[in-house]
Amino acid sequence: MTVSANPFAGLALNSPAVSPVRAREIAADLFGVDGAVSELPSHQERNFLVDSTSGRYVLKIANRVFSAQELDLQNTAMDRLGARVAFDVPRVVAALDGRTVVEAGDDQARLLTYVEGRPLQSFSHLAAPVLRSVGALGAETALALAGLDHPAADRLLQWDLQRAPEVVAALAPQLADANRAARAKEVMARAQQILEPLRPKLPTQVIHADICDWNVLCARDRSGRPSPTGLIDFGDVVRSYRVAELVAAATSCLSHSPDAPVQTVREVALAFHERCPLVEWEVEAIWPLVLARAATVAVSTAQQAQVEAANTYVADAVATEWQTLEAAATVPPALGREALRLACGFGPSAAARKGADALRRLARTCEPMLASPGRPVPLDLTVQNPDLRVGHAPVQVTEGDVAVGRWGEARLVHAVPDRAGEPATVHLGVDVFTAPGTAVSVPADGRVLRVDEREATIDLAGVLLRVAKLDPSVLPGQRLRAGEQIGVVAAAAQHYPLPPHLHVQAALEDSPSLPGLAQPTLRRAWLTLCPDPGPLLGVDAAAPTPEDIDLLEQRHAHVASPQAHYYERPPVIERGWRQHLYDGDGRAYLDMVNNVAVVGHSHPAVTRAASRQLRLLNTNSRFLYGAMPAFARRLAALVPEPLEVAFLVNSGSEANELALRLIRETTGTRDVLCFEGSYHGWTAATFEVSTSLAENPTERATRPPWVHPLPAPNTFRGPHRGDDAAALYLADAERVLDGLAGEARSAAGLIAEPILGVQGGLVPPAGFTRRLVELVRARGGLFVADEVQVGFGRLGHCFWAFEHQGVVPDVVTIAKATGNGFPLGAVLTRRDLANEFGRSGSWFSSAGGSPVSCAVGLAVLDAIEGERLQENARDVGDHLRRRLLQLAECRELVGAVHGLGLYLGVELVRDRETLEPATEETYAVCERMRELGVVVQPTGEHENILKVKPPLVITRASADFFVDQLDRVLTEDW
Ligand code: PMP
Repeated sequence: MTVSANPFAGLALNSPAVSPVRAREIAADLFGVDGAVSELPSHQERNFLVDSTSGRYVLKIANRVFSAQELDLQNTAMDRLGARVAFDVPRVVAALDGRTVVEAGDDQARLLTYVEGRPLQSFSHLAAPVLRSVGALGAETALALAGLDHPAADRLLQWDLQRAPEVVAALAPQLADANRAARAKEVMARAQQILEPLRPKLPTQVIHADICDWNVLCARDRSGRPSPTGLIDFGDVVRSYRVAELVAAATSCLSHSPDAPVQTVREVALAFHERCPLVEWEVEAIWPLVLARAATVAVSTAQQAQVEAANTYVADAVATEWQTLEAAATVPPALGREALRLACGFGPSAAARKGADALRRLARTCEPMLASPGRPVPLDLTVQNPDLRVGHAPVQVTEGDVAVGRWGEARLVHAVPDRAGEPATVHLGVDVFTAPGTAVSVPADGRVLRVDEREATIDLAGVLLRVAKLDPSVLPGQRLRAGEQIGVVAAAAQHYPLPPHLHVQAALEDSPSLPGLAQPTLRRAWLTLCPDPGPLLGVDAAAPTPEDIDLLEQRHAHVASPQAHYYERPPVIERGWRQHLYDGDGRAYLDMVNNVAVVGHSHPAVTRAASRQLRLLNTNSRFLYGAMPAFARRLAALVPEPLEVAFLVNSGSEANELALRLIRETTGTRDVLCFEGSYHGWTAATFEVSTSLAENPTERATRPPWVHPLPAPNTFRGPHRGDDAAALYLADAERVLDGLAGEARSAAGLIAEPILGVQGGLVPPAGFTRRLVELVRARGGLFVADEVQVGFGRLGHCFWAFEHQGVVPDVVTIAKATGNGFPLGAVLTRRDLANEFGRSGSWFSSAGGSPVSCAVGLAVLDAIEGERLQENARDVGDHLRRRLLQLAECRELVGAVHGLGLYLGVELVRDRETLEPATEETYAVCERMRELGVVVQPTGEHENILKVKPPLVITRASADFFVDQLDRVLTEDW
């Protein structure tokens, strides 16, 4: 290559013209490897896959601009990595004459072993653990190549980020699209300005320089996520900035999540830094180098596409590379810098510290921005404030006071339900709630930088002041004296959730647009860049810094470890409203698992009933008070004859424990029938009939002789699946009953969920339950319907699951929904059975049926009936089921959709023939769903069924949001 003023000016690297036929000849003649040849994608070379009997190889025909020595550098790097790293790299295969680089006509050829794997590029979404594994692979590569020297290491290379400014300068003018050319130059200039002072301080070494998603090869791990297993394409090996190794990888990952560029780069960088520690300047160089890499790749790809119109690999890449450039360019570089510094443990930058000092100095001498606004009263707009209502932010203060919205708090009012992206909720300024038209002045001498609709940005000697919700009366460039008016408080914008106010924000560095709110995952970086402007206003309006306590650690320290929690790293849930849960950061989650909160979270009528009754009386249930008979009468009215009386308890376990006692004492028999894979509670007896290995892993070893599980009528993966399944399952049950009879024993009864909820919402085959109960009764047994999960209107088409199955039980147990989360359960039964049970003495539960419990129970029933929630369960449930069935048709992983109404199960399988349960995938899908704002969890024996049992108030729109996100996850990877 001739070195001119800009060595990249004449760059046009056509791939060498070698046909597959010629490639086969080269492989056979020079390397002694003969086999079928097919072309592989390449940016500027020609690569062929050679499939021979001795193995698979890649024949590489180098671009002619590369010297033999440069090719030797690549081979040396491959050899070195091959000996030092845990992942696969190609091995160099010597030619028949012993050389590793041979001439083939005018071209230079090499033969490498083929590395198996799927390019990371082919996975759409990259989960955080995947990003971290890419960062780790980058670090391993950099560590393995450190200390390598080679005569060609300082080669002049387009992909060397030290050369990025020249490359962009040379190639941008060649682009047919002038807008793109200008954009690339502008981004590169921005990067260059930051990089210039850092350059001399950046450590250099030989690096791979192209750890991109095409070159990282993966296998799917157990959970179905990509796991890097190999690294290929050593064509860009060069001595460059060490940190460029990580930058190439991070920039490439960014194309997979362009809506979270900082978070993506941060994840890769942190994993790299943990293994290959970076110095402070390298961390500061990451963001500008990401811009430089994105600009270089974007212009190079576009130019190459122009040069080689037929290279589809290059053409396809163009759009992606420009999207990546835009994603990186929208981030204020100072934000990237602070976020990466904080993540790598370096604290705020010198620039940020200097700016904070300047703000403090300014605050000492500044003039008021608003004329005597009144006594400032900081408002609490956080998720944790119980006086706020979701969707409303009442701002009420007494006469003479002025309400102030605090800096640095995550606000409930900006939480958005049913949205996949992370909402921006953290307030970066201070709000002063005051009347529209109130005059606003500048607190210190300054110059107007920008005036936009309803806001102005003013430079106050190094500190920027953003004043928003303002009708500005200043012009860009205008110089201002302290105290000079800049406008008036604007009227509230339509649909904005807060009343009129002035938003005042400080910023240490400018950016084309400063947001007033930040995403919580970038909170610390944003708050470093936009420090508390309170001192400029003379108000103390900083929200308390969220306590840095690890709740999960606390829980593990003080709560018995078997008391389980959802998720490996669960979100901290602070409040609930209808079908949504909210974490402390104002992230809303659609709650698809809470069959407890049937009438919705924080139902106002339930809250009112409980607090009213708590203020009046709560006592043990031996006293006489109105709520107990009222509630028992309401429950009795819900069940068919001969069920007519209720025992009131506190939970499902207690209800089932009592039910077991009831059937045993009234029949005089201890033996009990249940279904395999069921769960009925944690108490001693209920746990023994809980045969679900997921819930009770020791069950088989400890099963007492009085427990007789029957095969669960699972027509999807159970032993009997066809039309005659009901008869075959009945025959199984009969065998168990006959076995008992053979030993001169009989069963007190059967305890079962009439629709198998714990198993994932399985509906037994038609007629099965009715005939089974007949069999049991014929032998003197009773039937306990466990309606704890599936009853109470959830199935939509009926109030009880036993109705769906056409049987009337002898005992019905309820809980969960009964109190909408308040501890409340009941056993509903026949009067004769209750009386018989009472012969041995009275029965009593202190809090079961207490005044508060019964008041809550009544309020829940009122809400279910008054809001027609059973009908909603039917309508939304049917819609949801239809949509899930459509999903099952097009997404491989979905094996079946079980259930009815709002008790559904989405069963995930690895193979539709073998029905191998996709257990790990189900957990990973749930993790990804949570990131997208949906809480859903696995259930079933193999924990491979998504349990879908939301509050009955769920809307069709929320149900659609759930299915859309599930579809997205199954399409995009997880
Ligand atoms: N029965 C069934 C079917 C259940 O699902 C559960 C709880 N998962 C229980 C009983 C026990 O209820 P609780 O947790 O209220 O004790």
